[in-house]
Amino acid sequence: LKGIDPLLEPEKGPSGKLYGPGEVNRTSATILSLVRNDELEGMLQSMRDLEATWNHKFNYPWTFINDEPFSKEFIERTSKEAKYTSYGWCSFFPGAGGGGEVIPKEDWEVPSWINEDLIQESSDLLTENKVQYATMRSYHQMCRWNSGKFYHHPALKDIRWYWRVEPKVHFFCDIDYDVFRYMEDNDKLYGFVINIYDSPDSIETLWPQTLEFLAEHPEYLHPNNAMDWLSDSKNRPEHNHKANGYSTCHFWSNFEIGDMNFWRSKPYEDYFEHLDRAGGFFYERWGDAPVHSIGLGLFADKDKIHWFRDIGYQHIPYFNCPSSPKCKQRCQAGRFTDGTGLDEEDCRANWFEMAHMD
Ligand code: GDP
Ligand code: MN
Repeated sequence: LKGIDPLLEPEKGPSGKLYGPGEVNRTSATILSLVRNDELEGMLQSMRDLEATWNHKFNYPWTFINDEPFSKEFIERTSKEAKYTSYGWCSFFPGAGGGGEVIPKEDWEVPSWINEDLIQESSDLLTENKVQYATMRSYHQMCRWNSGKFYHHPALKDIRWYWRVEPKVHFFCDIDYDVFRYMEDNDKLYGFVINIYDSPDSIETLWPQTLEFLAEHPEYLHPNNAMDWLSDSKNRPEHNHKANGYSTCHFWSNFEIGDMNFWRSKPYEDYFEHLDRAGGFFYERWGDAPVHSIGLGLFADKDKIHWFRDIGYQHIPYFNCPSSPKCKQRCQAGRFTDGTGLDEEDCRANWFEMAHMD
């Protein structure tokens, strides 16, 4: 971290409680990217967007994580991109041959209790059902890691908040306040921009497994949970039916601003453990998005989930584009897709209706 640890000693702004630029009072947070070396160009592009619209005002560190060492080029070029600002830095901890922060093997590899023959069998079925990335082993590993491992990574040990950023995403609108401070001071624990339906074929037994876990641990259910939203069968009955009781509507997790202490809490940890043992990250293709969403919907106070309507965002093929001068015509207000006929995948309205909005 270039000799200083901004996370332990945040700069105090004059008023002590500040969101705006110029009076920086950073909290314990990082921008977080799990990314591959060959995604460097896409990563740089995402960095440029986020630095330009937000981070040059607040200078939060970027933490890059990989399942193999980062290339010299990756480190040099991403470091330069963050240095674009006066306090910008990249967090490449030593330990993996100087190549950045590598995921501990035991957190990435397929666990010992998973049966290879069963993976093979089920991957045929997933392929038949056109589940995206069905046969791509690393994709399953990535989903599992993002579901239940990332927040234990040593690089994030003393950090509370993260903003997940993927390569090749866009940020369109100027954000003039510290979103992490906003979350902390308003007692939020999770922020999203887009909700969509999932492919039910990728998560056929996720909901049954969830109910099994809940039966063992009814005490984990938060009194102000979002069960109605999770189990909704009114909006897309066929999805709910195929997913055995889960609406499949989820927070689209390529964007997340979240409190890692929620994932580190006992209910969520036990839940992940149960799912991991059930094997659906490999026998099906459970995504971290539905797993996070169900975890939040069950164990969190739904009032602590925040829609960042003001953050203009695109990850192919969806947009969140607010109608605001802060977006300076960089995206088309109200647009959700590239016109590819996927508009019905947007399920944000379900959240607003069933879990209400602030
Ligand atoms: P999609 O958005 O669901 O199509 O999936 P992506 O290919 O964008 O992957 C999601 C995130 O995980 C992105 O940030 C990727 O860079 C990252 N990712 C996916 N697979 C791997 C992998 O095998 N290794 C590493 N290091 N990152 C990965
Ligand atoms: Mn992606």
